[in-house]
Amino acid sequence: MTSTEFTRNTENFCYRHPDRQSFVLCQRCLRTICPECQTQAAVGVICPECLQEQQRAQTPAQRTAQRRWNRRPSRGGVVAVGGRPVVTYSIIGVTAAVFLLQLLTGNAIDQWLAFYAPWLYPSVSGVFEPWRVLTGALVHSGFWHIGLNMLALWMIGRSLEPLLGRWRFLTLYVVGALGGSVAVALLAFTTPVVGASGAIFALFGALVVIGRHIGAEVTGIMIVLGINLVIGFLPGFGISWQAHVGGLVAGALLGLIYARTRRASQRGWQIALTILLVAVLIGLLALAPVIWV
Ligand SMILES: [Zn+2]
Ligand SMILES: [Zn+2]
Repeated sequence: MTSTEFTRNTENFCYRHPDRQSFVLCQRCLRTICPECQTQAAVGVICPECLQEQQRAQTPAQRTAQRRWNRRPSRGGVVAVGGRPVVTYSIIGVTAAVFLLQLLTGNAIDQWLAFYAPWLYPSVSGVFEPWRVLTGALVHSGFWHIGLNMLALWMIGRSLEPLLGRWRFLTLYVVGALGGSVAVALLAFTTPVVGASGAIFALFGALVVIGRHIGAEVTGIMIVLGINLVIGFLPGFGISWQAHVGGLVAGALLGLIYARTRRASQRGWQIALTILLVAVLIGLLALAPVIWV
């Protein structure tokens, strides 16, 4: 897709704000809507026009009930925006809670969650603890480490999550964590790794593919990621540049899948290609013992 082709395709932009890029569709009319135009509905989000139609179709009793249940602040009769980055805040909350547990237990929880590739292969190590592929992203090696990662997550998530929608954003984060672990298994088999950097770099990879014109403050993000990247090359921190690269590549690929399949009619393709990407990443894990053992 060339950039002119991309900008000419109105389906990539909010139908009410043609300059705003978005991946989120109204669940009712299936037109693209930007975060400001989204209202949380029972399933997914709906656009202001559909919201009005829905409200017109309601009986006065239904309307009263709706008002009573819907305590969110309203703006000009439209219920508040569905664009709050709930997943971003939740990931930060869970990661911070795990870090607190690390401090309280004297890092005992690291022993359970950190990523160590040999422990994926019973034939190699006699140990099979596959959850580490993802849980490594929850543990960190110090205040500065979790601080930098969560700052980057917050900076990117604020713009990227409302743009992609919650599920696509969460999937991107998880696939990034997986991609980071896969790269470590392939490139640095016996290095134990902790940190969300792989997942963070996946967000960045997707952001670059999807485009910078989404209101994200890219310079600040680049600085935070740059510091992160430099630290990854210093020995002894339990962070690896391999995880950064793996996350970046996985995130860019998933961003490409999202960008190319955003029409409602392509939703099946989007899910199928996402599953394929995950399958390829898991398949690559099988190569690690072949290379290293
Ligand atoms: Zn609609
Ligand atoms: Zn809009």
